[in-house]
Amino acid sequence: MTATQVVDLAIIGSGSGNAIPDDRFADKTLAIFEEGVYGGTCLNVGCIPTKMFVYASEVAEIATHGARLGVHAKVDSVDWPGIVERVFGRIDPLSQGGKEYRVDRCENITVYDSHVEFDGRDDDGRYRLVTRDGDTVLATEVVLAAGSRAVIPQVIADSGVTYHTNNDVMRLPELPERLIIAGSGYIAAEFAHVFGALGSHVSIIARGPALLRKQDADVSNRFTQVAREKWDVRLETTITDAEDLPDGGVRVGLSDGTTIEADVLLVATGRQPNGDRLNLDSVGIELDDEGRVRCDQHGRTAARGVWTLGDVSSPYQLKHVANHEQRVVQANLLKGWDATDLDAFDHRFVPAAVFTHPQIASVGLTEEEALDAGLDVAVKVQAYGDVAYGWAMEDTTGFCKLIAERGTGRLLGAHLIGPQAPTVIQPVIQAMHFGQTAHELARGQYWIHPAMPEVLENALLGLEI
Ligand SMILES: Cc1cc2nc3c(=O)[nH]c(=O)nc-3n(C[C@H](O)[C@H](O)[C@H](O)COP(=O)(O)OP(=O)(O)OC[C@H]3O[C@@H](n4cnc5c(N)ncnc54)[C@H](O)[C@@H]3O)c2cc1C
Repeated sequence: MTATQVVDLAIIGSGSGNAIPDDRFADKTLAIFEEGVYGGTCLNVGCIPTKMFVYASEVAEIATHGARLGVHAKVDSVDWPGIVERVFGRIDPLSQGGKEYRVDRCENITVYDSHVEFDGRDDDGRYRLVTRDGDTVLATEVVLAAGSRAVIPQVIADSGVTYHTNNDVMRLPELPERLIIAGSGYIAAEFAHVFGALGSHVSIIARGPALLRKQDADVSNRFTQVAREKWDVRLETTITDAEDLPDGGVRVGLSDGTTIEADVLLVATGRQPNGDRLNLDSVGIELDDEGRVRCDQHGRTAARGVWTLGDVSSPYQLKHVANHEQRVVQANLLKGWDATDLDAFDHRFVPAAVFTHPQIASVGLTEEEALDAGLDVAVKVQAYGDVAYGWAMEDTTGFCKLIAERGTGRLLGAHLIGPQAPTVIQPVIQAMHFGQTAHELARGQYWIHPAMPEVLENALLGLEI
């Protein structure tokens, strides 16, 4: 049976959006809409499961390459179904529990398991939201937290070939012997590591001349070089056609005239914001050229009472940014649309990591961006192999690249590739946020000896500012 419900606040998307209602919203009526799995991308098909797989791959990688440290080991077998069970045996109950909590324990919240979109406003100015199941919700305020989805290149969609995305590749029944990955960004790089280290033969099809091209050029080049030593990397190549093979598996035709056959095709060619599936025109909200919902720094869209956060509108498709934006919008909902002291998004120093092998982390400007901005920059590249812990690991490929402003010592950017890069970089993120200079960061504290962050300390000291 379909129904119409009137609520104070409707939230579209149960990822970061699900964190909005807390005790402070107890006197409001809310509706949460979720067309997919409760809890959103990060929990179910993104950050968390990928990193649980990545860790298993790290263990395999270390065992496989122990000989150079004098430890002779090999990976006898990989229990892929066991890994899948370990990961999702933990995650699925979290998703289910999160939903049950909202449904069973939050009397003021109704959860709708359906796609929803706008259908203009009613005579009282409330937003009309219509679900695929035929329910209607009239809401005074709305939060768009609808996230993003995998982009599927037209040639693949049109071919009818069987393909996977991050949504299902982590639940394959068995580890593929051969895997083709279309894409060269961070999702492609993480899955290449996951499957490659566990034993799959990995082919990467990259349109551009290098992998991870959004990274600083030195990092992108180093990663591409390392990747080519272990995976079949096809640069400046596009997929021209694809088909399922009669006996299982796929064949992909490439722009260089060659073909590749594999058991599985994974598409990781970027993420598209979901704002195009909300009928936003009907309430006067626009998308920008990248398909993101337009909003101001407080999360307000052009439609009074409609707020937005996370991948659907953010220039940064990252969970820590979605979480931050969620906290800003949550605070602003409580303050009110016209409040003069609204919280604002802070996008000054957004860090990001790629949990591939070697790991990568970055914050701030690349060298090219700093130069393009006309800044007078000092750059220091310090090899992991230059510090004691890097020797201990016999690391030969990792480095830390720092960019600072000459004269002031202001830190402009940090780009790391190497073991534990996402952890090692954190002091730079902190320094940039709290306005510490390179010298203050280097000499204003102890650095544990001989820990890996010494690579950062040495890079800071080496900056000619
Ligand atoms: C493979 C992968 C790995 C990642 N790894 C990392 C990482 O290591 N670190 C990191 O910071 N970020 C990572 N990310 C990115 C991160 O997952 C996202 O930035 C984050 O989850 C976005 O949160 P969100 O709340 O904006 O959207 P989501 O969590 O995607 O939530 C949006 C929800 O809205 C629902 N929805 C959409 N439209 C509708 C509709 N019309 N009606 C009803 N429901 C709707 C969707 O089903 C979805 O559940 C990764 C992403 C992927 C895909």
